[in-house]
Amino acid sequence: MKFQEKTLNTDDDFIWTCQYCGIHNVVWVDLTVGSKQDFIEDCRICCRPNRIIVTVDNEEMTFIEARPSDE
Ligand SMILES: [Zn+2]
Repeated sequence: MKFQEKTLNTDDDFIWTCQYCGIHNVVWVDLTVGSKQDFIEDCRICCRPNRIIVTVDNEEMTFIEARPSDE
């Protein structure tokens, strides 16, 4: 489980780490859609799907977490 903290913007690019091969990927997230988002992104290197969970905490900090999609 890995977290990256960033200050709040309405949208931003976030770096997440592939849970299968460890490569860093970048995903663009529209933070106006909701304070908690949960979606699947394919790794750009190994093409395996990772479950990405984005959480906005108290409208101040944004957390992004990647999990294996089959967990
Ligand atoms: Zn990968």
